Amino acid sequence: MNAARQEALAEYPHLYIGGAWVAPVAGEVVESIDPSTGRPWARVAFGGAADIDAAVQAARVAFGPWSRRPGHERAALLRRLADLYERAAPELARLESRDNGRALRETRADIGGHHNAWHWYASLADKGSGRTIPIEDSVLAFTTRKPVGVVGAITPWNVPLMAALWKLGPALAAGCTVVLKPAEHTPVTSLELARLFEQAGFPPGVVNVVPGWGAGGAGERLVAHPDVAKIAFTGEGGTAKAILHAGADSLKRYTFELGGKAPHILFADADFEQAINAATGSAWALCGQSCALGSRVLVERPIYERAVEEFTRRAARVRVGPALREETHMGPQAHAEQLAKTLGYVEIGRREGAQLACGGRRLEGDAYGAGYYVEPTVFAGVGNDMRIAREEIFGPVAALIPFDGEDEAVALANASSYGLAAGLWTRDVGRALRVSSRIEAGMVWVNTYRYIRWSTPYGGVKASGWGRENGMECIEPYLDVQTTIISKSGRFPDPYAT
Ligand code: NAD
Repeated sequence: MNAARQEALAEYPHLYIGGAWVAPVAGEVVESIDPSTGRPWARVAFGGAADIDAAVQAARVAFGPWSRRPGHERAALLRRLADLYERAAPELARLESRDNGRALRETRADIGGHHNAWHWYASLADKGSGRTIPIEDSVLAFTTRKPVGVVGAITPWNVPLMAALWKLGPALAAGCTVVLKPAEHTPVTSLELARLFEQAGFPPGVVNVVPGWGAGGAGERLVAHPDVAKIAFTGEGGTAKAILHAGADSLKRYTFELGGKAPHILFADADFEQAINAATGSAWALCGQSCALGSRVLVERPIYERAVEEFTRRAARVRVGPALREETHMGPQAHAEQLAKTLGYVEIGRREGAQLACGGRRLEGDAYGAGYYVEPTVFAGVGNDMRIAREEIFGPVAALIPFDGEDEAVALANASSYGLAAGLWTRDVGRALRVSSRIEAGMVWVNTYRYIRWSTPYGGVKASGWGRENGMECIEPYLDVQTTIISKSGRFPDPYAT
């Protein structure tokens, strides 16, 4: 038996409910797979409907006192959490890389900055002010903001901590309480996050974490629960539709961060080297498993061949390997189904007539073991009507599409059901302004790509979702508006006097 086989599995036997670590009612424990090896590395308790019910009840009880607590006190707790999170970040990055296979150099950079976001949300906790509304002099009309209630946060496997951060931060700042259900493939870091909330001294029930299944399991119960006021969801569009059906009876509110097929437009007048740096990096970051990646690379015809060559040359430089290895650029796909999906799309691309310029195979053998590795892949000669250009692959597959001129670039960019993000590279400021304003996307980056910060709103249009996370706007979906109108005279005429 080799050393890796002898390694004991990490044990996560409890859910975090009402400030206590409890075993799941049905006793379900699921092995979490390390995608770098294809073998289990942790055993994690999974909750079901009864555990969700207990978590929602705990969040309901906690809601009153938490929502009435002065904003600066909620902020102080969030800042304490931010400090603990900053200290824990190196270990959180290691665990996240282990659980979802994202290269450690990426998780370190990403999670290493999350404490700034927790501080940002803290800074919003006492800003939920209303306004006075001028009407007749006889009344005073004003609005106040009130937290919506218990929030169900449902997160995906590609960025578990970031997705949790973007939901829990504004929800808690607003005065809501939360039940977090992380993705079944990557539950570990959300439980580690619960430990930090406990250490920071958050009152019991304000944050509850229940790993579990989605459809037919904890996720579905959370969505259907009548005492959950709002669902904050990141994941696939199909799941969002199922959530809308399941939540219909209780008329919930929703924010949805869904898929993307972002156009990354390279005009011929761009700084070619910089544009290629961004375009290759964003095609293969997270092993292609991020909604905002520039997976449709639109290249102006005079530089098209050069771009295909350069993509192919860069692909050969990408070091694919185990997520925890320092030199690894790109880890494996996060789970076996995603690996199969990506390889399936490579086949679809070939059959559709796109030219496979490089990559497209699973990497197997001694160095890769049973891990879910796939080569960085480049398709040339792609038409925007092909499935590999229309559908979200979520693998490291760049589809290079040629275009002629600004109008065609915009038309191709917008010929997508998605509208999350877009990027464009040009030295012409006028063109940058013209094109960015015509693109249907929640975010447009010019001469940069995937520049994402806690202070800038993030979210999509069309099939990419509803609402925004981050920015000043992030707190809005967690607050209701109450309008109060007070008569200065207190006189109310008898409507039946005459
Ligand atoms: P998914 O929709 O399969 O699962 C997301 C979460 O929903 C998981 O926790 C899952 O257990 C849960 N779930 C599944 N079915 C459910 C149901 N019927 N009721 C309640 N919960 C249910 O998505 P995924 O495969 O984990 O993540 C990949 C998707 O997420 C991609 O489409 C990607 O583009 C999207 N994503 C979007 C953003 C963004 O900000 N726009 C960010 C990251 C990921």
